[in-house]
Formats: sequence, structure tokens, C-alpha cells
Amino acid sequence: MPELPEVETTCRGISPHIIDKVISDVIVRHPQLRWPIPENLAELLIGHQFVNIQRRAKYLLLKTNTTETVIIHLGMSGNLRIVDNNQPAKKHDHVDFVFNDGTILRYNDTRRFGAILSTSKPIDQHKLISQLGPEPLSTDFTGKHLYTLASNKKIAVKTFIMNGHNVVGVGNIYASESLFMAGIHPTRQAGNISFERYEKLAESIKLVLQQAIDQGGTTLRDFVNEQGKPGYFQQSLAVYGRKDEPCLKCKSNIQQIKIAQRASYFCTNCQS
Ligand SMILES: [Zn+2]
Repeated sequence: MPELPEVETTCRGISPHIIDKVISDVIVRHPQLRWPIPENLAELLIGHQFVNIQRRAKYLLLKTNTTETVIIHLGMSGNLRIVDNNQPAKKHDHVDFVFNDGTILRYNDTRRFGAILSTSKPIDQHKLISQLGPEPLSTDFTGKHLYTLASNKKIAVKTFIMNGHNVVGVGNIYASESLFMAGIHPTRQAGNISFERYEKLAESIKLVLQQAIDQGGTTLRDFVNEQGKPGYFQQSLAVYGRKDEPCLKCKSNIQQIKIAQRASYFCTNCQS
């Protein structure tokens, strides 16, 4: 599943290929994603340009030179690629944004849990965006923010940091990794963690995500290489997926349990 680092890498990867180019066509081969693609999407976009692309949580926001902003979510299996107009569409290539120089931004999604929507409202007011917590890599996201929100909360800290109202983009892998880095046990009650430990946790979340984004930078060229794999990448992980393997800090065996139905990995010796 594409996580925040993959979405950030996609954002940086596609941006230079499509910004300020005139949109000459929008081809929708399969309109039924998580929600239907707006029927008038082509009408809204043809003749206009995307003037910038930003990421908010795992949404890509493609701002046009009109009031419209296209919102794209990659869901479970979506990816965006840059191809040229002599590349025939393959299975699951559901949408093409065609530009007047022959460049195509192509959306592929095997499982179709992704989304392509458009809004003319200020993007912060859109219902998918307005309730989101702070970006983990922004200065708004701090240990104090987490500590304040966690007050009296009895839920597991791992579930707490994966809730997008508290902070966005901390997926299952990055939650396990950042809790290991901070030395906090994933089942510890969110309201029972000191301010100092939340400072360490916020710092760890930033580090883990930034490292993944930095590693993703090496895959950027794949966005223009039809042979290359889409922008998902295997980063080096300290605990996630390492059940019964030795902890990188103390050599104890890494444990795996389920917390809120999600596989969670930790070291009982290093995390409390
Ligand atoms: Zn350990």
C-alpha cells in the first residue's frame, strides 16, 4: 500500500513533467474507483493547466489555473506514471491526463480503492481534507501536540499515532518503526506517556518518514521509465516484518502481536 513517503515521492516525481502544460484530454476508461470519477472531469480540465502539485496526508492536490483542484488518492494499489502518447494503455490503466506536448499522466489501480475527485472550493474546506491532523514533517507537529491530545486517552499509543486526526501519514509500518526508535511499547496507553517521551516519539516519526522519503528519491527516474516499477520502494526496516529475528539494538527476538487488527512489531527489551 502506498504510504506517505511513496505519495511524496510520486508528487516530486510527476511534478516537473506536467506543471504548466496545457491539458488536451482526459480519458476515463473506468470511472468507478472508491467514489465515481466526476463525469465532467474532462470538461473542467481541458484547455487548462496544473500550476502546482502538493501532498496533504496521502492526497495529491493538483491545483489548476482555474478554481478547480484535482484530488488524487492512490488507495491500496494505485500509482501514477508519466508516459508518452504512443504507449498503449494496459489493464488497470483507468485514467489518462493528456497534455498538449504528448505527455500523459497515467493512473493505474488494480484494486480500485483509490480516488480521483475535483473541487472548486478552497481545498482546506473539502470534507476529505478539513478534518486532517498536522503533517508529521511540519513544525506544527511536536511532542507537545501529541502529549496534549493524548491526555487521559486509554487507547494503545500505536493506534493513537495512526489516527489521522492526531497526525497524518503514520501508517502501520512507520508506527512500529518510530515506536521502536523512541523505545516506547506499542500497547502502552497513550495517556500514560511522559512529555519527554512524546518529544522523542515526535522526533522519531519525523526521522523515520524523512529517511523513507530520502530513499524514495532514488526511485524518481522510474516515473518516466515504462519498464520501471511504480514508485513503491523497500526501505530498510528495524522491526517491521522481522518477527523472531534479532533486535538490531539488543539481539532479543522481535515480537509480533496484533493491535487494532494490525500487525505490530516490537522488542520487549528495548521498548516499555
Ligand atoms: Zn531490543
